[in-house]
Amino acid sequence: MRAVVVTRSGGPEVLEVRDQPAPEVGPGRLLVDVEAVGVNYRDIYEREGRYGPSPPFVAGVEGAGTVAAVGADVSDFGAGDRVAWVAAPGSYAEQVAVDAARAVPVPEGVSSELAAAALLQGMTAHYLATSTYRVRPDDEVVIHAAAGGVGLLLTQIVKLRGGRVIATTSNEEKAALARRAGADEVIGYDGFAERVRELTGGAGAAVVYDGVGKATFDESLTALRPRGTLVLFGAASGPVPPFDPMRLEGHGSLFLTRPSLRHYTAERSDLLERAYEVFGWIAERRLDVLIGGRYPLDQARRGQEDLAARKTTGKLLLLP
Ligand code: NDP
Repeated sequence: MRAVVVTRSGGPEVLEVRDQPAPEVGPGRLLVDVEAVGVNYRDIYEREGRYGPSPPFVAGVEGAGTVAAVGADVSDFGAGDRVAWVAAPGSYAEQVAVDAARAVPVPEGVSSELAAAALLQGMTAHYLATSTYRVRPDDEVVIHAAAGGVGLLLTQIVKLRGGRVIATTSNEEKAALARRAGADEVIGYDGFAERVRELTGGAGAAVVYDGVGKATFDESLTALRPRGTLVLFGAASGPVPPFDPMRLEGHGSLFLTRPSLRHYTAERSDLLERAYEVFGWIAERRLDVLIGGRYPLDQARRGQEDLAARKTTGKLLLLP
């Protein structure tokens, strides 16, 4: 089978399409024919060697497809079932082995493409808005990179919860998408903290969801109201340098958290509840998933390049 291998740590050029043996279906695992692969920012961090396995390894963790075979001790799934997953290393491939305990059944009414496009970023947006900081009606909420994969979903979920969204994007096309997702105000990154103050009558935001990191972190702190919450959930512009906690006091007894999806889906019940709620919203057309780009598997390199170059909106998929 074909798979995209990270041959060493580095830029997009280290990705190579190779013929590999199909993965083993060990106990507790499913062998899945992959129909759609999710491209995520973490795939870039792993390729660069910021974290994750040591090369060589097959890239990717997310996708959806049909179970081809099940290993010993698997009772919940059988051949022919449609499943999706967010934590199966080696997902940039025609077949992948998925831990049955981490597989999510895909309901009728949700295509495999939509499942792969929505699961990781949808559950992320879900836990950010419902658990990390529970958005309440009329909360003033800043969402950075609101036209991105997580951003568009988070904007819609915050609106479902009654929050008021002030979104940042880098260009007009992205601003239009953020507005269509429900953002009440869309602004650029330059001087955004001051704009947030103006737009909140001087008060500041209750919460800033910041997946951009290095470039926005300092201003995100100043955009908050006293006792507001900065949710730093990613580092698309680079990691935030070391930080003196006294700055939280200086800006008004702020809260800072750096959450991760794996801790919010650690129990199988959490994984399934979040996934079903996201899939349910999609099936009921309350949550719109924008697939911003589809690439053949052997163009994974181009997909990652486009994502890192800020050229994309919504979710990118690879199609084996
Ligand atoms: P996006 O589709 O949001 O792409 C990243 C966006 O970030 C770009 O489109 C761009 O939007 C913005 N951006 C701002 N500055 C830069 C920069 N210097 N370089 C590149 N992009 C920049 O990606 P994802 O939806 O996949 O991920 C968004 C963030 O969420 C990432 O940081 C990711 O790591 C994080 N994440 C965290 C999870 C968690 O559980 N903690 C889980 C999933 C994702 P614009 O041009 O409008 O600025």
